[in-house]
Amino acid sequence: MIVKNIVSLRKIIEDINFKKKICFIPTLGNLHKGHLSLVENAKKKRDFVVVSIFINPLQFEKKRDFESYPKTLKNDLDILKKNKVDLIFLPPKNFVSSNLSIVKVNKISEKLCGIDRTGHFEGVATIILKFLRLIKPNKIILGEKDFQQILIIKQVIKDFFLSTKVIVLPTIRDMDGLALSSRNSLMSNNKRKLASILYESLKKICEEIINTGIIPNRIDYYKIKILKAGFEKVNYLEILKDKDLSILDEKPSNARIFISADISGIRLIDNLKIKRKIGIVKGIIS
Ligand code: AMP
Repeated sequence: MIVKNIVSLRKIIEDINFKKKICFIPTLGNLHKGHLSLVENAKKKRDFVVVSIFINPLQFEKKRDFESYPKTLKNDLDILKKNKVDLIFLPPKNFVSSNLSIVKVNKISEKLCGIDRTGHFEGVATIILKFLRLIKPNKIILGEKDFQQILIIKQVIKDFFLSTKVIVLPTIRDMDGLALSSRNSLMSNNKRKLASILYESLKKICEEIINTGIIPNRIDYYKIKILKAGFEKVNYLEILKDKDLSILDEKPSNARIFISADISGIRLIDNLKIKRKIGIVKGIIS
């Protein structure tokens, strides 16, 4: 069932809440196999599965990025119906009004994508809080690809005393390792081929860290390599603690490598957990 209206949504949710657990998957649409892996996982349990499709204008700091974001609603609805999603929520136009209250998550939103995407995570946190209050899901399923977003959502859940459990599922990749993303379709074939260097670099850095520890020069080496391959900008290539994105200390554990780079004006992101214990840090990595 497709729901576009808040009053109807509330009624349905009130009714379902007594009968079944609610599992929620927020999306921007232009669905691909990454999104589907979340839906398939949700459907395995006997939950009531809610998927939202909403290109949240608040999380696009550039109008051009918002306008060029791929919009494929008809196809998305077909996919979700085929996958027997119980409720598809398409928020009404006034979901984002001009006098909207804004939620800002401190610290975590000041790192990585928060540095050059002003207001992006405020946009994410605000809309997620609205969704969670309305849908009251027992679970929310998120993809590991958007790791910083997961931390933001966890913080909102904690700070606003919500009881939704966060389930994180692995990143689904193309054959060459590039993380599936709605933005991938905006790249020319040529650029698309080059883009696999992001995941290759993450894997190599991870191996090097496991073997020899972190050497800041090597991070610079990979940044230059990515630029030489055809990316116009590396927004960041950083190794941080995955608990809170803080800088690694002397004996790092639970670290993750984060990357963002632009190709033909398209921003790609990815990250990889460093699986085995890593060596002593020799400097600040960025
Ligand atoms: P988006 O529509 O890009 O906002 O993504 C909606 C949800 O799907 C988020 O939780 C994303 O992390 C997740 N997602 C996007 N791409 C992938 C992927 N390649 N693998 C797994 N999950 C993904």
